[in-house]
Amino acid sequence: MDHHFGDCTPVMKRRICYCGELPILKTSWTEINPGRRFWGCRFYGKVGCCDFFYWADPAPHERYKSVINGLLRKRNEVDKEKVNIGKTARFYKIALWLLVLFFVLRSVF
Ligand SMILES: [Zn+2]
Repeated sequence: MDHHFGDCTPVMKRRICYCGELPILKTSWTEINPGRRFWGCRFYGKVGCCDFFYWADPAPHERYKSVINGLLRKRNEVDKEKVNIGKTARFYKIALWLLVLFFVLRSVF
């Protein structure tokens, strides 16, 4: 089910979720709704939360979706690359320390 901006108005006038709390503005990062903001229960994911949910932004255009999803994929690739670079750096750091240790021990004995 897809809510549109116009659907929000009557419920947003309540300005409280079914728990009786003020909802909070969050951002969706799913492939279908990347970067689209919505109002949700502040206790979402916790025991006893309600299912209060309304889009704050209109549905994104296909072009916008493909650009944002492409950028998100690129960012994930960069994150993975950073992890690999970190692993390589740790390997060389350890190798360097072992080399230093080797030469120190060799000069002592
Ligand atoms: Zn709630």
